[in-house]
Amino acid sequence: MNPLLEKFNTPFETAPFQLIKNEHFLPAVKKAIELAKEEITAIKSIALPDFENTIVALDRSGEKLNSISAIFFNLNSAETNVHIQTLAREISPLLTAHSNDILLDEALFSRIQQVYEQKSQLQLTEEQKTLLEKTYKAFVRNGARLDEKQKARLREIDKELSQLGLKFGENVLAETNKYELVIDNEDDLSGLPEAIKEAAAQTAEEKGKPGQWVFTLAFPSYLPFMTYAENRALRKELFTAYNTKASKGDALDNRAHIKNMLALKNERAKLLGYPRFADFVLEERMAKNAPAVMEFLHNLLDKAKPKAEKELEELTAFAKDLDGLEQLEKWDFAYYSEKLKKKKYEVDDELLRPYFKLENVIDGVFTTAEKLFGIRFIENKDIPKYHPDVTAYEVVDLEGKHLAVFYADFFPREGKRNGAWMTSYRGQKVMDGKDHRPHVSIVCNFTKPTKSKPSLLTFNEVTTLFHEFGHALHGMLANGNYESLSGTSVYWDFVELPSQIFENWCYEKDCLDLFAKHYETGAGIPVDLIQKIKNAANFQQGYQTVRQISFGLLDMAYHGTDPEKITDIHSFERKVMQNTQLLPEVKDTLMSTSFSHIFQGGYAAGYYSYKWAEVLDADAFELFLERGIFDKVTADSFKENVLSAGGKEHPSILYKRFRGREPRPEALLKRAGLLN
Ligand SMILES: [Zn+2]
Repeated sequence: MNPLLEKFNTPFETAPFQLIKNEHFLPAVKKAIELAKEEITAIKSIALPDFENTIVALDRSGEKLNSISAIFFNLNSAETNVHIQTLAREISPLLTAHSNDILLDEALFSRIQQVYEQKSQLQLTEEQKTLLEKTYKAFVRNGARLDEKQKARLREIDKELSQLGLKFGENVLAETNKYELVIDNEDDLSGLPEAIKEAAAQTAEEKGKPGQWVFTLAFPSYLPFMTYAENRALRKELFTAYNTKASKGDALDNRAHIKNMLALKNERAKLLGYPRFADFVLEERMAKNAPAVMEFLHNLLDKAKPKAEKELEELTAFAKDLDGLEQLEKWDFAYYSEKLKKKKYEVDDELLRPYFKLENVIDGVFTTAEKLFGIRFIENKDIPKYHPDVTAYEVVDLEGKHLAVFYADFFPREGKRNGAWMTSYRGQKVMDGKDHRPHVSIVCNFTKPTKSKPSLLTFNEVTTLFHEFGHALHGMLANGNYESLSGTSVYWDFVELPSQIFENWCYEKDCLDLFAKHYETGAGIPVDLIQKIKNAANFQQGYQTVRQISFGLLDMAYHGTDPEKITDIHSFERKVMQNTQLLPEVKDTLMSTSFSHIFQGGYAAGYYSYKWAEVLDADAFELFLERGIFDKVTADSFKENVLSAGGKEHPSILYKRFRGREPRPEALLKRAGLLN
């Protein structure tokens, strides 16, 4: 008997973690793929395709497979081991092949197309129209309308692109691992915090250089060195190494790979009828098209650049004052910024931690959600868990009606990957009149309690918790009919609105008063400390904004330009970024060859979405600021139009329904101190 293939006999049909063994996964996935294939065959056997028997049936299909995959991949992230990792290498290709089998199924597509062609006569709701459009587009964007020869070419391109992307990433990693800055004179470590020195000594030990210190290009090693090391020549050396990765004309050079990828992406877009790759991507984004993104970025740049220039003037004067520095260089930026920040704001993590005991913060998050959206969290010890550190809750509304299951998994351990994320074990949908409520989880790596102290969070950890909880609300409050449109299944540049907006509450006194109490004395967090947190958050926002915009512009330039016009990566990058570089150029450095977000990850023509989401969250939160951060009417509207709506309609429509107008950047500029 395989518990993954049985009906889950647990509270709310939650995953039966107590019964699942590693050896259950592979046979369960194989069986569930068979079941999903039978469902597809059934859809194809119906004589007259219509919306229900084809489009909805497809959305309903593969339920068991989705459930098993969710359990498996969530465990692979949160509680993995060598066995699970080995299984992942076997299971992932099975799932890719299965999803390709569906998307390339011509008989299935022809049915979808028949329904799509009747769409004007079908009298569908907006949600149904969106589902039809999304389903049809998923096939078309995968080449369903191409002839055989073109289809074969598209497959070839996809295969080559995925190999090139992997190669790109491997080269960046190899370059990162290859370099080491070896220090044998302790004086050269001057300025570095003890913990960083210790870590560098340990790295040296591991690399067979006991008694020395080694810094690498891995970010947790690189960043502290650039931030604290007094030795300017060494900072320059490390900076140069970091910014010349995969561009040295050897076997690890990524420049040719970039050109090949751009040519292939362009060819793929053209095959599918789009002028450029950016047009293909942006069709399924809130931003809609490339000109809108460019206007968005340039508009922000105009506002941020004067502020950034002022910030640099201030920093230059500070460095001159402190060390007699005549010319501030790129390798000086983090170092003097840190010192200036300390001087200006006198606020650090250790000062704040006592006010942020984890249990208090969790309580604060729950109370905030209750005040805003009328939901309550009740711990339920009968819900099976995959690790004793996990807490499981039942989420109910104020009448006690069941809304969701919520898992919280907060502490680092071996087997959990870095970072913080929200995920789900089960999506929400309404089927045969029954509302299937979601099972949502957040996984973090917070400061652990010790023998003498409870878990005391940094402010950054507090905002992280609120952020992930915002995503979780998007999942838990989902209220749609179809799983593929429900919860966080929204366009990429819209998905961070619920999470980022929720962070705003952490900066508000009325919210902090609910939970930010000293863990020993119970005293509330002082008002001046709150103000300091706010001020520090705005430090160098102009410079940081310009920097983010410069990456967004570079990304758009690569994916919106005829690749034949990009002959030299170096001069292309220089030209595109010219207007956004505020510190002197450093010869031979290049960022494109290690720009993994767009050449390896999924951010191609999407880097702008970081700033896009910030504009949305600041603009949306402004309404709460105007009417009160716990204003019920505003919260109800946000819940109805954003949190519960998922991807039912285009995000522009949903947003406008909440805000009463299109989003504007002013609130972000104001929050970041970039106005005037
Ligand atoms: Zn997020």
